[in-house]
Amino acid sequence: LVRIRGLKKSFGAHRVLDGIDLDVREGEVTVLLGPSGSGKSTLLRCVNHLERPDAGFVEIGGDIIGYRHDGGGKLHELHGKTVTRQRAQVGMVFQQFNLFPHLTVLENLIEAPVSVRGLAKADAVNRAVDLLARVGLAGREGSYPRHLSGGQQQRVAIARALAMEPRVLLFDEPTSALDPELVGEVLAVIRDLAHSGMTMIVVTHEIGFAREVADTAVFLDGGRIVESGAPAAVLDHPTHDRARAFLSAVL
Ligand code: ATP
Ligand code: MG
Repeated sequence: LVRIRGLKKSFGAHRVLDGIDLDVREGEVTVLLGPSGSGKSTLLRCVNHLERPDAGFVEIGGDIIGYRHDGGGKLHELHGKTVTRQRAQVGMVFQQFNLFPHLTVLENLIEAPVSVRGLAKADAVNRAVDLLARVGLAGREGSYPRHLSGGQQQRVAIARALAMEPRVLLFDEPTSALDPELVGEVLAVIRDLAHSGMTMIVVTHEIGFAREVADTAVFLDGGRIVESGAPAAVLDHPTHDRARAFLSAVL
């Protein structure tokens, strides 16, 4: 479903992604690990075109994100609303929840479906109510984010991403900002999504979770994939020095 080829991205002279090739099959969960600065967030941001790659491409369901084929084998860069619509196929959940603070939970959930996808408000509301129940927050429609715990806010953020019916969900350290006792409730929601067949790329340092939920674990170092494979192999028997050092430190 997701095909990444030759992806490169530099900031100034600093090459942050140095030729990434990665495939994520439909319904599979890929966990992305790696030291700080290895390019994990940049890779996710390229997948939904929040960053524009310098070289290579990201293809989702056959569409190259940010570009369209003209039939004659040429690619044309897309702009504005067209990219926004394309990007809607990719949901993203950040470390810092990023809910709209001045909107209620319900308003957070219906904003993008109504404004980007043109859903009728009543339909968006119905779907939001269902999604809140799915993340264990039935009845919290009228709450403001500040009245929710971090774990609840993050579950709203997941529901908000799902409200766009994305084909792929990206998570960037979704539990890193949470108090330890709130981590489990968020991981449980992500685990349920995995079991429901959602295609996901998850950046996390929760190794136990990775081992249990991931179909593939990928270890990034210096903008390159240095380990990739079944989680048991990558997490328990890394062959790359940096991966071994990193994993022994976080375990
Ligand atoms: P962390 O575990 O700390 O989140 P990461 O693996 O997600 O790290 P990235 O956020 O992708 O790493 O950043 C990789 C490198 O790119 C870092 O050195 C960072 O400073 C740099 N970088 C990221 N975004 C930008 C930007 N917009 N402008 C300049 N440099 C950037
Ligand atoms: Mg990051």
